[in-house]
Amino acid sequence: MENCIFCKISKHEVSSDIVVEDAETIVFNDIHPKAETHLLIVPKKHIHSVSAVTAEDWPIVMNVVKKAAEVAKDKNILGYKLVFNVGRDGGQMIDHLHLHLLAGGKVELP
Ligand code: AMP
Ligand code: ZN
Repeated sequence: MENCIFCKISKHEVSSDIVVEDAETIVFNDIHPKAETHLLIVPKKHIHSVSAVTAEDWPIVMNVVKKAAEVAKDKNILGYKLVFNVGRDGGQMIDHLHLHLLAGGKVELP
């Protein structure tokens, strides 16, 4: 997708504070953290939103959730919130599916 910031981050065309990545998923620190730890788990494939996932893409979304749990375990984060914002009314500002992982301190919902 042209002009999609998360597509550009996934392709390393825009720099980000990457925590981990694999062929399908990239994890980086949110630029405006709403908790001590605020990560974004992003599929490299451009999927608009949870509300736009096609049957073939649900496994990608499952892997996004799995990756969040793995990163939390690796970082020894025992308790955290996982948030998908869906649609403008749901607080989604970037139209490329992403999962927020928030932990520590005074957690605000993104
Ligand atoms: P949402 O409101 O659910 O669409 O969340 C988008 C998130 O992306 C917000 O928490 C932003 O702070 C974050 N964000 C926007 N641009 C960047 C960027 N270039 N690098 C890291 N995080 C970003
Ligand atoms: Zn995108």
